[in-house]
Amino acid sequence: MSVERAAALIRAGKLVAFPTETVYGLGANALDPAAVARIFEAKGRPRTSPLIVHVDSVEMARSLTSRWPDAAETLARRYWPGPLTLVLPKRRPSGADSGAGLPACPPCIPDIVTAGLPTVALRMPAHPLALELIRAAGVPIAAPSANRFSELSPTTAAHVPEALAHYVLDGGPARVGIESTVLSLVDAPTLLRHGVIPLPEIESLIGPVQLAAAPDAGSHESPGMHPRHYCPATPLLLLAAGDPTPAGNGEWLRIGREMPATAREYAAALYETLHRLDGRGLAWIAVERPPETPEWAGVLDRLRRAATVLH
Ligand code: AMP
Ligand code: MG
Repeated sequence: MSVERAAALIRAGKLVAFPTETVYGLGANALDPAAVARIFEAKGRPRTSPLIVHVDSVEMARSLTSRWPDAAETLARRYWPGPLTLVLPKRRPSGADSGAGLPACPPCIPDIVTAGLPTVALRMPAHPLALELIRAAGVPIAAPSANRFSELSPTTAAHVPEALAHYVLDGGPARVGIESTVLSLVDAPTLLRHGVIPLPEIESLIGPVQLAAAPDAGSHESPGMHPRHYCPATPLLLLAAGDPTPAGNGEWLRIGREMPATAREYAAALYETLHRLDGRGLAWIAVERPPETPEWAGVLDRLRRAATVLH
């Protein structure tokens, strides 16, 4: 499928799966509440989970916010296009528009996208097809990962479940391989989700960053902060390299052996490996626990949430 066709489908309110450098997204016109509602239905995703809005420029991002602090400018200049999502105060309909039914203010992001929050999560993706798609559609694109809620994210077009998206734009394997770093700049900078960017690197640019407290079980679910997420169907065990494994047919994934030795290369290979092993009907997948260093934080976070036994 061509980018032009994909863009026309987005403008017509359809869902299109498209490549980004992190994982494949399931995209809809972020300004069209009915189109965005189809994302939640297709994924089985609770409406309390806000979506990331993908933009093609810093200017488009700014236009969707009511405040763009210096830290946002600094980080966008350094990391965009790239695997960093910034959460900022959302631009609201102006007084003249309110009360007239639909918010008469494109470019205002409707409440369904942000789960009713007064904030919006924004990212400019680094995949050329993603940028071309947003540009050709002429609208911001709301997109979570193109998988059923809490399952493994797709890192190739072939991973995107057929039932989820009738239209898939194929852009090859995702280069980064795990979901973006999510940072809130609404109040004091707060990390909501680890990704591949080491936190000290961000802190060297904007100063100290707090870690968000994990929500209690049963409380309002924030996607990516949900304790079980990113799960393969096969039980995944997070173990030390020499630990005993359960009975039955399984596979070890050790760092620097079956898996790459560096965090960036490991992240790029992780979901592809889990998708492949998931197809083999194994009793277990044992994964060697990565070090607790800033470089590995994103990978460790995903493995913890995918693990059957939380260590
Ligand atoms: P995903 O399920 O990969 O699409 O995850 C979306 C990520 O963005 C999660 O980590 C959410 O917590 C975060 N997110 C999206 N919108 C917001 C928002 N308005 N406020 C806070 N976090 C958000
Ligand atoms: Mg997801």
